[in-house]
Amino acid sequence: MKFVAYHHHGQPGVGLLSNDGLQIEPFDIPVAQRAYGALSIIESLAEGDKLPTLLAPLALSEVKVTAPLPKPRRNIFCVGKNYHAHAKEFAGSGFDSSAKSGGDVPTTPIIFSKVPECVIAPGEAIVIPAEVSTAIDYEAELAVIIGHGGKGIKKADAMKHVWGYTIVNDVTSRDWQSRHQQWLMGKSFDTFCPMGPYLVSADELDGTNTRVRCFVNGEERQNASTTDLIFDIPTLIETLSAGITLYPGDIIATGTPVGVGIGFKPPRYLQAGDVVRVEIDGIGSLENPVR
Ligand code: MG
Repeated sequence: MKFVAYHHHGQPGVGLLSNDGLQIEPFDIPVAQRAYGALSIIESLAEGDKLPTLLAPLALSEVKVTAPLPKPRRNIFCVGKNYHAHAKEFAGSGFDSSAKSGGDVPTTPIIFSKVPECVIAPGEAIVIPAEVSTAIDYEAELAVIIGHGGKGIKKADAMKHVWGYTIVNDVTSRDWQSRHQQWLMGKSFDTFCPMGPYLVSADELDGTNTRVRCFVNGEERQNASTTDLIFDIPTLIETLSAGITLYPGDIIATGTPVGVGIGFKPPRYLQAGDVVRVEIDGIGSLENPVR
């Protein structure tokens, strides 16, 4: 199933996308919960509850689709340098504060986070804060959504904790990422986490074997399979949950393939007027203009 969060006549809602992709069946849940998109439903499913009652369908064309988890409860977990070719391009860019000589490819996962408030909807503008930084880059990524939480989750059990998947664009200020060494600020500027359009359940999509692509103004920049991840999804869940309890609705962005703007010489940063589109097979297409 595909969850879609939306606004309809200014009111938040969340529902199931029909198989033909043309309609939404809204869930009958309180308005306070609807503001969090699919979060309360993932939480109640993790408690063993059934899906909420469905209301009369709406046409998808009548609503404005938002991020499926527009207000994550806490930071989005992210993984740095998790595709071999990207690790090499980033280490060679001169902007990599984590690079050690002779070690382009990490031997343990590099985990950082983005603050929840930087999440934006499909179609919403990525804003370049020109007075702060103009070295703004895209990163197409598959995001894992946790269903059942837990601590000390082992690799062999990890996929049972995955509710499903969505797309994120891990937008980054490269000069802030480099200068401040810790990545949180350069990854968390306002508008720097486009997310969506749908949240697809794990029974409909094998996130361990799907294709991630990114286009800037229609030009393909990134194209890789998640089978090329250095640290696969079970390893990421085992690593994160070793010391940190994971909760339903937690988001793990799994890393970006080769082809980011910093990998070009000279770098090809995003410019006002650009349009960035991220596509993942089985989920759909996340497109955002740049302002
Ligand atoms: Mg990233």
